[in-house]
Amino acid sequence: MVRHMANPLTPDVLADPVVLTRALVDVESVSRNEKAIADYVQEVLEQAPHLTTDRHGNTLMARTNLGRQQRVVLAGHLDTVPINNNFPSTVVDDLIYGCGTSDMKSGVALALHLVATLSDPCYDLTFLFYEAEEIDSQYNGLNLVAQAHPEWLLADFAVLLEPTYGVVEAGCQGTQRALIRTSGRRAHTARAWRGVNAIHAAGEVLRRLEDYRPRTVTIDGCTYREGLNAVRIAGGVAGNVVPDECTVEVNLRFAPDRTEKQALEHLNEVFEGFDVEVTDSAAGALPGLSAAPAREFLAAVGAEPAAKLGWTDVARFAALGIPALNYGPGDPLLAHAPDEHVEIGKIRDGATTLHRWLAGN
Ligand SMILES: [Zn+2]
Repeated sequence: MVRHMANPLTPDVLADPVVLTRALVDVESVSRNEKAIADYVQEVLEQAPHLTTDRHGNTLMARTNLGRQQRVVLAGHLDTVPINNNFPSTVVDDLIYGCGTSDMKSGVALALHLVATLSDPCYDLTFLFYEAEEIDSQYNGLNLVAQAHPEWLLADFAVLLEPTYGVVEAGCQGTQRALIRTSGRRAHTARAWRGVNAIHAAGEVLRRLEDYRPRTVTIDGCTYREGLNAVRIAGGVAGNVVPDECTVEVNLRFAPDRTEKQALEHLNEVFEGFDVEVTDSAAGALPGLSAAPAREFLAAVGAEPAAKLGWTDVARFAALGIPALNYGPGDPLLAHAPDEHVEIGKIRDGATTLHRWLAGN
């Protein structure tokens, strides 16, 4: 391995999750530029005698083989969105500012801190540090590993250390986009009675959206709020033509008790009598909080879980039948913001909680 500078992730740095967060933030790793940080992390993993390490692109997997009854994944992405006058890190009072502080190098720091300080966990552990989460999913390291080495992901439970401000956010909602099409017959507007106006017909589609009452669903104590919204509308031929086609694009956010197929059935129900064409769809993920490691994790955190409303990489684990949730020290509302920062206290709390859970005491 060719290195351009000494690895900043020294044993002293690894011993303190706050110092480690800053050290990670200060290695620039905008998506597609993760080689340097991946090299440093790989060296840390390879120095841990209780782990075996593998690499795929700039994604690293390291795991224990202690013969424990159950295996837990701790995962985090190494990349950040482009820097925005917020590099390198700075500290003001008990806040660390900088690109990636919240999303999600403080989370990665918690995992790497465990690598360095917990050699005898009560579960077998798999650490995943992956590339390119912030850009198109064709580059996403977790996605690439799921295709190339699906066995790397196998576990009984997974925690993604994405920013949740110290709250457990379980499962995630699914999303489906569809075009609702109305048709008519073209005519000159001077003889409009000879045509049928497809844009007027879309009025009924909009009325149904306006009248729509989204469901609220509680699963494993997590409350999911669905939504169905028009996000775009298109139609019209010319200033003097009765239009023969109009499409309303809708986005359904659905709770994870519906499959993608059931979500589509629901859209067909809502828009009965209209043509519904799905253009994009992603399944949600059930919270899966009944697995034993999940219950013990919730006990260690000591707070009620909340539902994750957006789509996240936990769904990639769910697709493999592995319950997964998000838990990290960053504030999700600050992710990708120029004033992105993380509270030092949240990093310390997170480190203590994970240690308590995984040391089994
Ligand atoms: Zn993230």
